[in-house]
Amino acid sequence: MASRLRKFGITAVSAAIGAGFVTWALDQKPPAYTVSSEAKAPPKRKSTLPPRTEQVKAIQSGQDYDVLIIGGGATGAGCALDSVTRGLKTALIEMDDFASGTSSRSTKLIHGGVRYLQKAILGLDYEQYRMVKEALEERANMLESAPHLAHPLPIMLPVYQWWQVPYYWVGIKCYDLVAGGRNVKSSYLLSKKEALELFPMLKKEKLCGAIVYYDGQQDDARMALAVALTAARHGATVCNHTEVTQLIKKPDENGNQVLCGAKCRDVITGKEFTVKAKCIINATGPFTDSIRKMDDPSVKSICCPSSGTHIVLPGYYSPEQMGLLDPSTSDGRVIFFLPWQRQTIAGTTDTPCEVTRTPAPTDDEINFILTEIKHYLNADVDVRRGDVLSAWTGIRPLVSDPNKDDTQSLARNHIVHVSKSKLITIAGGKWTTYRAMAEHTIDAAIKACNLKPERPESVTHLMKIEGGQGWTPTMYIRLVQDFGLECEVAQHLAKTYGDRAFAVAKMASLTGKRWPIIGNKIHPEFPYIDAEIKYGVREYAMNAVDMIARRLRLAFLNAQAASEALPAIVDIMGEELKWSKDEKEKQIKKARDFLNLEMGQQASTKTRDLALDLTNDEVSMYTKRFSLIDKDKKGFVSINDIRRALKGDKVRDQKSFGDADVSGEQLHDILKEIDTNMNGQVELDEYLQMMSAIKTGHVAYSRFAMMAEMEEQKQEAESLKKKITVDRSGGGL
Ligand SMILES: Cc1cc2nc3c(=O)[nH]c(=O)nc-3n(C[C@H](O)[C@H](O)[C@H](O)COP(=O)(O)OP(=O)(O)OC[C@H]3O[C@@H](n4cnc5c(N)ncnc54)[C@H](O)[C@@H]3O)c2cc1C
Repeated sequence: MASRLRKFGITAVSAAIGAGFVTWALDQKPPAYTVSSEAKAPPKRKSTLPPRTEQVKAIQSGQDYDVLIIGGGATGAGCALDSVTRGLKTALIEMDDFASGTSSRSTKLIHGGVRYLQKAILGLDYEQYRMVKEALEERANMLESAPHLAHPLPIMLPVYQWWQVPYYWVGIKCYDLVAGGRNVKSSYLLSKKEALELFPMLKKEKLCGAIVYYDGQQDDARMALAVALTAARHGATVCNHTEVTQLIKKPDENGNQVLCGAKCRDVITGKEFTVKAKCIINATGPFTDSIRKMDDPSVKSICCPSSGTHIVLPGYYSPEQMGLLDPSTSDGRVIFFLPWQRQTIAGTTDTPCEVTRTPAPTDDEINFILTEIKHYLNADVDVRRGDVLSAWTGIRPLVSDPNKDDTQSLARNHIVHVSKSKLITIAGGKWTTYRAMAEHTIDAAIKACNLKPERPESVTHLMKIEGGQGWTPTMYIRLVQDFGLECEVAQHLAKTYGDRAFAVAKMASLTGKRWPIIGNKIHPEFPYIDAEIKYGVREYAMNAVDMIARRLRLAFLNAQAASEALPAIVDIMGEELKWSKDEKEKQIKKARDFLNLEMGQQASTKTRDLALDLTNDEVSMYTKRFSLIDKDKKGFVSINDIRRALKGDKVRDQKSFGDADVSGEQLHDILKEIDTNMNGQVELDEYLQMMSAIKTGHVAYSRFAMMAEMEEQKQEAESLKKKITVDRSGGGL
């Protein structure tokens, strides 16, 4: 009874504090970044995107820029757009691909952060409140600027203790109130029955009800690219695969050493060159200290990197239009469980880490997320390790503020710092606030480097991003009706490219079928078509990883499917970029290494080193199956054995192996699924390991296992044919 009273007390007090806080908060002035309505209209965009060769030529030409931005993630791309649309001559340099760093590895939420608001309310923390308010304002801006790439997403917060209902309800209502007129949609309370109707996979035992609130969701890699391309259309020079290796200084009128350019390296050709600029912006996320130390080797590091892993599960794990938030995991973190591009993403972890160009998920992180989501799902959803289709890790660029004396504690928001030699560093913050961060950075750059923009104030507020101008929610119907695309493909193109989808559709090849007329898919399970590869090259994709990870999101959605689609993708890219046979092989190898290390394939192979969990009968059954494929009794199964077993229509399961003859590439894929010691053949112990992993749920599906089973059925059918004579079968006179 006493504890019930205490909980009731907490609820009542939090409700009162919440209400009081909201009243106080609403009385406050709007954030300082609000844009003046007098800002002049930005210059016109180019109707054709300059080809990459032109961008490379411009950056290597030795011309003077007003602003050089280092880093092509959300922050750098945002800075390039803000700078060029103010009329400043702008260049952006990215050492890998646009958004190849943290900006393609986020939770994909466009949010103010309910958890931060909870902290603001409970701690009566005005700075925290300002941060949430700013992010909620930017959330609305992003949804409007790129309506094709961002959409509202309802998120359910299930409640398992009655006293938490009013507690969370007040908190979420405050979230709506702080967003004010720019709220996405109002939150609402659900009974247990209603919650289960909307999220049938939810565990129903002890469920009291749920609260649904709205945030935005996006395709993060595509959004960063779209921002960079918008900057390019406005005249910025944007160059991926170009690295800054050194900063250059010269004395100013007072004799102080100030930055005037950077030495760069074209990562593809190895060519070194210098870019001259009046102002240099460091927007390198987790790499911020490497550029700060190029400027002044004695500066203290400010970045405290922390890694966050997500896993991708099949779409049936969550409803198509409802996410889930677990506000307190077993170790006090927050886990999101969200539908995304017809799959489900779950994450994230939070572990201190080293800054690396190749962050990789670990098996422990994957298992942690699986264990946490099990708590929320009912018994019909058997959460299995083998259902993890992909896993990836991003590094949070958390920083301490060098402008403050206390350099120990982490800045809660973004920081803009101007060094003695005028290096402008923008760090911290989040995806959602990229535009406001860019605005603050360019304001600081104009002041520190005495730049003379045509428009002194930012004009990016509500500015449409590449593809957003002519987009409508029903635009995809024209793609179906005018071009003869499959509906699912048309919807995907419209959501990915916005009004540019027509340009993509024009590049699609004929299928030779009655329907769809154009658009050959590059993988049967995904709506990606051949034309996107050609179009992706025009959008500055330079290697197979750029294509599978960021132009298409295949690697993030399903690492195995990405590996299967690679040869076709590399063939099309090869034609566009004139790759030799050797180069194509190199591209495939590099992309497979990327899938293994950064998209979790390696971690999934490790789980096969498990103790066998098979009965004696199962072991003899599988040993028999194995020997049926290993016809020559070599003790292992080779590619040729697999080819022989798959020959003939009777054996081939059309869904798993396709209609056409199984290609050499597919045969290798089947072998690789199970060949854990990578010696190009399958030994009996590897096969038993795989069957054990399937039994325990660590692995969901193996084409090799299915093939072995079919081989056994074929043998049985043939021996039965021999046994049944015509007179006994009743089949003849
Ligand atoms: C797991 C996780 C989940 C997240 N989820 C969300 C979310 O749901 N919503 C949200 O709003 N925020 C989220 N965030 C935060 C958000 O993703 C980041 O704040 C944002 O992406 C940082 O962008 P950035 O451009 O600063 O850094 P990055 O994207 O890392 O870009 C920096 C770029 O600089 C380049 N670079 C580095 N050195 C050089 C050099 N010498 N020369 C040229 N280029 C160089 C790098 O290659 C890199 O591409 C999440 C972060 C993580 C880690």
